[in-house]
Amino acid sequence: DTVKFSSLGQLRDRLNPQLWQLLTNASQAAEARGWHLYLVGGAVRDLLLAEAAAQTLMITDIDLVVDGFHKSADVGAGVELAKALQEIYPAARLEIHGAFQTAALLWHKDPELDSLWVDIATARTEFYPYPAANPEVEASSIRQDLYRRDFTINALALRLTPPRAGDLLDFFGGLLDLKAKQIRVLHANSFIEDPTRIYRGVRFAVRFGFTIELRTEEYIRYAINSGVYDRTAQTNTKTPALQTRLKTELKHILEAPYWRSALQLLDDLGALQCIHPTLSLDGELKRQLRLLERCLQRFAPQPNLIPWQMRLEVIIAHLAAKYRAKVAKNLQLQEDSIGRLQNLATADADVREFLPQCQSPSQVVKLLRKYDQEMLILIALLGQRSIRRQIWYYLTVWANIQPILNGNDLKKLGYKPGPQYKQMLDDILAATLDGWISDRAQVEEFLSQHYPL
Ligand code: ATP
Repeated sequence: DTVKFSSLGQLRDRLNPQLWQLLTNASQAAEARGWHLYLVGGAVRDLLLAEAAAQTLMITDIDLVVDGFHKSADVGAGVELAKALQEIYPAARLEIHGAFQTAALLWHKDPELDSLWVDIATARTEFYPYPAANPEVEASSIRQDLYRRDFTINALALRLTPPRAGDLLDFFGGLLDLKAKQIRVLHANSFIEDPTRIYRGVRFAVRFGFTIELRTEEYIRYAINSGVYDRTAQTNTKTPALQTRLKTELKHILEAPYWRSALQLLDDLGALQCIHPTLSLDGELKRQLRLLERCLQRFAPQPNLIPWQMRLEVIIAHLAAKYRAKVAKNLQLQEDSIGRLQNLATADADVREFLPQCQSPSQVVKLLRKYDQEMLILIALLGQRSIRRQIWYYLTVWANIQPILNGNDLKKLGYKPGPQYKQMLDDILAATLDGWISDRAQVEEFLSQHYPL
């Protein structure tokens, strides 16, 4: 079951014509300056896969690398090229990342290019004092750039500038790996250098239905056993960038349709230890994640319920209480997520103790309304069935019931505005929830009894 490719010349047919025109403009601008331009990374991989499956491709992310310099000033080539392109495409927004000499052009819902993100980088290499025409030098700087990448299938480059435009640069056997459907790392130290590549590897494997090549799997296990997770999982302010990248990868995984299989594969590889050394995908966590999905289907879409974040919170909530907030902080989750995971144990104990004692809907509402919906979902997933049922009922029915009157109505009825209003409205709501009153006449009757004017 291998992937078959026909000629590279047909690749352009897989692209939308406006995108092809953009690439042509970019390569002409590079050529005019004596540079070489390459399409690299995921777009090349996806183009080859689309080619093999005879599909057209929607590309939203493009990585370009400029290479082939003979002046030291050319280290800013990526930025210059981006500026030149922006003159042709004034609708694009230009972002410059000075420290890395990279630039990005962004289109948002453009009539022709739709939403597109083009990163333009300067080949990351030392400056070579040779003329650009020397093919060895050209190849070696783009080669170095590609060697810094994660997997062979992501380290392919398609040359856009002449001569030999359309050539595929495949220094590490990426094409063969695409055909054999495998994820292979470029060198033995790769996962030690950057443990988030373990998560990336799993993501690509599950997404494309590829396998992780045997040696690569050994390197992953070796990296994990050698304690690479210490760098990611422990409280460590020295590696915030690593934590951010891990969170980004987790987000990618947990918002993809294949998140379950990816999580399973991460667990099989022991890679969940990068989040915390005690974390594993046991039956209990799987059950909670299943229940969460049902709950998300019921409540979503709601702006506060972001599925990937809720999945991640459930995963972290599975850890012993003392670790939760630390892990959430390490991963730089949002403040409200961190707060929830910090307070979950106390809130859970509160609900567990007092919910069974509630005698009426109004008592349930009084107990639960101090917690937000996400917190209640976490508590429900941790709790027994009876607790879960009451929380679901609260979230779907009782939490939505409003007092029949509001402050304005009270004023019209002749009550003097003041702190008493809150108590009155609370009493009205409680009586409504408990079924004592259900219409305006009954409310007024209720008020004249309890709050005579
Ligand atoms: P996707 O379709 O998921 O966006 P992609 O391959 O385009 O896949 P990006 O995260 O956009 O993924 O990264 C672009 C390219 O940058 C990759 O193809 C890879 O070559 C390189 N890259 C990204 N992250 C890493 C990393 N952690 N280590 C090495 N190379 C990386």
